[in-house]
Order: sequence, then structure tokens, then C-alpha cells
Amino acid sequence: MHLTTPYDDNNIFAKILRDEAPAIRVYEDEMTLAFMDIMPQLPGHVLVIPKSPAANLLTLPPEYTQAMMLTTQKVARAVQKAMDAPGFMIAQLNGAEAGQTVFHIHMHILPRRDGLEFKLHARVLADMDELQTIAARIRAAL
Ligand code: 5GP
Repeated sequence: MHLTTPYDDNNIFAKILRDEAPAIRVYEDEMTLAFMDIMPQLPGHVLVIPKSPAANLLTLPPEYTQAMMLTTQKVARAVQKAMDAPGFMIAQLNGAEAGQTVFHIHMHILPRRDGLEFKLHARVLADMDELQTIAARIRAAL
């Protein structure tokens, strides 16, 4: 998948946006959606996506870039509070060569504590009850 490859309307995040696939949502507004990553690298791993059909940052219209960043800031604040995390990391991958696996642009919010102990990217499915519990804590902190 190259940066210039056209957007695929049937990618999993497009399906989540159309409610054709499930997601544990924590925040939504007119231009963005935030939901729990199903294969979290750390507890509290949240994804933020714009409601715009862009595969990567280079093709995202400016107004959606702005909305995505504002939602990332808002949700990161809640994630940090809910997880009682001293820090957090934001990641955003563009292109398969950079490690991107879902080709609808998204921001990763990763609450962090000491060291670098986080799991490999997109490997192990989370326990859904645990994800629901964490999502409820994040929603309450918004
Ligand atoms: P990327 O590799 O594209 O930066 O990140 C894709 C992220 O989406 C990974 O962290 C992966 O765990 C997550 N992911 C993949 N499929 C699904 C899904 O069906 N639902 C949710 N909630 N997350 C997904």
C-alpha cells in the first residue's frame, strides 16, 4: 500500500464509521470518532479517526486535520486522567513501510508510565470486558 494508493471504502475503519463493524466508542462529534484499539499495545490505547475518506495525513483536508488534532488532545486528556498515566505518547503511521496496517488515517493515543514496556503493534486481541471497563472510565473523564 503506497501513499498514493486510492482510499478503499471497505477498510475496517470506514466500516466502523458506517456502523457496519462494531467498535467500543469513547467520543464522537460531527467530524471525528474515538474508539478503543482492539489489539492494544497498552491498557487505554485509543484511536482517533476523522470522518473523511483519507488513507494518510497527506490526503486529509485541513479542516479534518484540525478536527482530528483537537479530538486527540481532548481524548488524550481523558485517557491520561482515566488511566492515571504520568505521560502519554501519540503515534500516527503513514504507509505500509512506516508500519501502517489500516489505511484510514488515525492517531494512536498510548498512555505511558516508566520504561518502554508496550506490546507489539496490532498483534493480540484484547479481552472485550476489560476494554469496555476502560472505555467507561475514559468516557467518564471526558
Ligand atoms: P496502524 O498499524 O494502521 O497504525 O494501526 C492500526 C491499529 O488498528 C492497530 O493498532 C490495530 O490494533 C487496530 N485495529 C485493527 N483492526 C481493528 C478493528 O477492527 N477494530 C479496532 N478497534 N481496532 C483495530
